[in-house]
Amino acid sequence: MAFSLVYLDSISSPLSGASLELIAAGRRLGDPVVVSAQPVSDESVAELGAAGVSGVVVPENAGTEAHTNFLTFETQLLAIALSETEASGVVLPNSLNGKEIAARLGVKLNAGVVTDAVDIAEDGTVTKSVLAGAYTTQARVTEGPLIVTLKANSVEYTAPAAAEEPDLLEIPVEDPAPGARVVEVREKAVSGRPDLTAARIVVSGGRGVDGDFTPVEDLADALGAAVGASRAAVDAGWINHDLQVGQTGKTVAPQLYIAAGISGAIQHKAGMQTSRVIVAVNDDPDSPIFEIADLGIVGDLKNVLPQAAAELRKRND
Ligand SMILES: Cc1cc2nc3c(=O)[nH]c(=O)nc-3n(C[C@H](O)[C@H](O)[C@H](O)COP(=O)(O)OP(=O)(O)OC[C@H]3O[C@@H](n4cnc5c(N)ncnc54)[C@H](O)[C@@H]3O)c2cc1C
Repeated sequence: MAFSLVYLDSISSPLSGASLELIAAGRRLGDPVVVSAQPVSDESVAELGAAGVSGVVVPENAGTEAHTNFLTFETQLLAIALSETEASGVVLPNSLNGKEIAARLGVKLNAGVVTDAVDIAEDGTVTKSVLAGAYTTQARVTEGPLIVTLKANSVEYTAPAAAEEPDLLEIPVEDPAPGARVVEVREKAVSGRPDLTAARIVVSGGRGVDGDFTPVEDLADALGAAVGASRAAVDAGWINHDLQVGQTGKTVAPQLYIAAGISGAIQHKAGMQTSRVIVAVNDDPDSPIFEIADLGIVGDLKNVLPQAAAELRKRND
């Protein structure tokens, strides 16, 4: 039986749903072997065995050093684990780190990488979500082992018929000299608003706010919503880059998306058009945003948004 490697960032007890999904996806490619850069307790090894994992690979002295080398250590660990097990594929989480490690591993091994996967078939065909979830495509790698990052909530986990007793393999991994060193770590300022990608309501502002996000932020706070922005607003430096919605920003799909002073360029729509209800506030009645809006308000956002916020506050009092 062929092996597959499943990379887990962290291993909680009991195992998280996300970890079980990755293991279930790995099982499609072969006997899953979990790889972790963190120490794995005996209790977790037993839980992994119950989930059908046949081996656990960790670096020698796992957890004794903080690896601040931008994931080169984790990449090295997986490369060694791959050559030791001759696994046919590696499944990683579709997180920023997961994608970074996948990319580095692909370059190192000259192997094919597929990100944003939503399904993996036993023959290695990967189904991938593209264009903000508007399409799915299928891909197969043609070089080296398959390296795939799997989106959460994509694959169903079912417990195996029989538990395994996984071996814990500790392998020596050299910590490569960092090409760059982290000299300072600063906590991101917390806004108190919900996370943009997880929020049920998002209020976004565009070039139409003309440098002042106060009406957008005020309405967001009245609704308990997250704040988003178009690239034009971000590029102008009016709001933080990590709040950009769209093709080159975040993809959101809230219950309610309010676009204020945003024209509805295709690159912005790519990040929000699957929102359940879209409300557009724009002073140009011919603005393309109205084509996808469920409710359109033609007017100056500086008048419309404060009125909406005041009305909401009145009702909540
Ligand atoms: C490769 C590439 C990637 C891109 N990625 C992204 C992306 O991820 N996200 C993104 O948003 N864009 C992206 N863009 C840019 C995109 O093409 C648009 O330029 C951008 O979305 C426009 O932002 P906007 O709607 O805020 O500005 P505009 O298109 O200038 O629209 C401003 C709107 O505000 C209205 N308005 C003005 N004043 C008021 C007022 N007082 N009250 C109400 N309405 C008012 C105007 O009528 C207008 O419709 C990308 C472009 C490229 C080429």
